[in-house]
Amino acid sequence: MAFESLSEKLQNVFKNLRNKGRLTEADVKAALKEVKMALLEADVNFKVVKQFIKSVQERAIGQDVLNSLTPGQMVIKIVNEEMVSLMGSETTEIPLKPSNEITIILMAGLQGAGKTTTCAKIAGKMKQKGRSPLLVACDVYRPAAIRQLQVNGEKQGVPVFAMGENQNPVNIAKAAVEHAVKNNMNVVILDTAGRLHVDEEMMAELQNIKAALDIDETILVVDAMTGQDAVNVAKSFDETVGLDGVILTKLDGDTRGGAALSIRAVIGKPILYVGMGEKLSDLEQFYPDRMASRILGMGDVLTLIEKAEAQIDEDKAREMTRKFKKAEFTYEDYLENMSQVKNMGNIQDLIAMIPGMGSQLKNVDLSGSEAQMKRTESIILSMTPEERANPDLMNMSRKKRIAAGAGVPISEVNALVKQFEMMKKMMKQFSGQLSGKKRSKFRM
Ligand code: GDP
Repeated sequence: MAFESLSEKLQNVFKNLRNKGRLTEADVKAALKEVKMALLEADVNFKVVKQFIKSVQERAIGQDVLNSLTPGQMVIKIVNEEMVSLMGSETTEIPLKPSNEITIILMAGLQGAGKTTTCAKIAGKMKQKGRSPLLVACDVYRPAAIRQLQVNGEKQGVPVFAMGENQNPVNIAKAAVEHAVKNNMNVVILDTAGRLHVDEEMMAELQNIKAALDIDETILVVDAMTGQDAVNVAKSFDETVGLDGVILTKLDGDTRGGAALSIRAVIGKPILYVGMGEKLSDLEQFYPDRMASRILGMGDVLTLIEKAEAQIDEDKAREMTRKFKKAEFTYEDYLENMSQVKNMGNIQDLIAMIPGMGSQLKNVDLSGSEAQMKRTESIILSMTPEERANPDLMNMSRKKRIAAGAGVPISEVNALVKQFEMMKKMMKQFSGQLSGKKRSKFRM
C-alpha cells in the first residue's frame, strides 16, 4: 500500500503527542526527532528532511502552540501544512494550447520506469478532456516498445504513429507532427527510448528532438519505488534536457514515499500525475494536500468520491435504485455493481482513503475478499443470460451445471443463490416500507 510504513511511523509519533495534555519544548523536539528518523528511513532526501524539520520546529515551538488547548493537534497541523508545501502546495496541470493548435509532449525516462504505459494513460486523460491525441513511437531500439505502445493505444482508442526501427527518432517526431496537422489532432505524445541508466546517448537524443521541434512540455517518468535514485535521475534529466514536470509511477507499491516527498523540493519541478497501478485507468492527478493527508493517515475522502463518481454512471445508478425498490435486481445487476467497485482500484488502497481506516486495517488481509469477488464473478458468468436476468429459474440441475462451469463446489453456488435471495427479500421489505404499505407502523 502506498506510504504504508512511513504513515504508520508518523501516526505513532502523533498518537503520543495527542495523548499528552501539555507539551514542553523538549516534547516537541523529541517528537520531531522521531519524525526526522521516519522521513530518513522513508528515503526522503537528507537536505529536504533537515529543512523540513527546521521549518516545523520554528513554527511549533512558539508560545501560541505550546500554550494552546490542544498543542499536539497544533503540531500535527503544522507538520501537515509543511508537508503540503514541500510537495508544491498547488496542483499542476499539463498546460495545453487552444484546441486548434498542437501541443507537443515529450515523455522521457529510464527503461522500466513505466514510460510507455504512462504515455497511453496520459493519452486517455487527454481524450477525457475532449482532445484528439496521437501517440508516437520514438523508441527505435526496442521493437517490443513499439508493439507495446500500439497495443496500449488500441486499448485507449488512441491512434499510434510508428515508422519502425530504422528511422531516426527526430524524423519520426517531425513526421508525426505533420500527420497530426493533416488529421486535425491536437496533442502529440512522444514516447522516447529509455536506457537502464542515465547515459549521454539518451540525453543527446532527447536534446536533438527538443532542438528540432517546438516541444511544449518535457515530462520525466520515474519509478517511485526507487526512492532517492528517482530523485537523482530527475536531477540529471532536468540539468541536461530541462524538465517541466514529473510523473511518479508505481506509487501503489511504494511503502516509503521518499521520491514523492523529495522531488519537488530538490529539482523545483512539480509532480503532475502519479501511477497507481498497471491498468491504463490507474493514473491520478497529483494533489499535494491530499497526498499529505494520506501520508499522515488522515485519509483522502475527496479522491475516493471522485473515483466513485468516475465509475458510476448517474443514469445507471438511478435505474439500479428503481430496481432495488421494486426488488427486480438480477444477477446481471450484481455483476455490474461488482465491476464498478473493482474499477475503483485495489480494495486496500481504497480503504486507506477513509480517514482512520488505513492504520486500523493494516494487518487485515483483504486479498481474500478480492479473490472471493473473482469467484462470485465466475459463478455468475457461468450462468446463461436467461438465468442471470431471471433468478427464479434457478434449480438443482442448473446449479450443478453452473458449479462445473465455474470450477467451484456446488456449495458455493448455493451460498451465492441464498445470499442473493435474501438480498431480494430484504429489498422487498424495504420497498414495501418505502411505498407506504406499512406506513402506519412508522407514523409518529
Ligand atoms: P518503460 O520501459 O519505461 O516504457 O516501462 P513500461 O511502460 O514498459 O512499464 C514497465 C512495467 O511497469 C510494466 O510491467 C508496467 O505494467 C508497470 N507499471 C507502469 N506504471 C505502473 C504503476 O503505476 N504501477 C504499477 N504497479 N506498475 C506500473
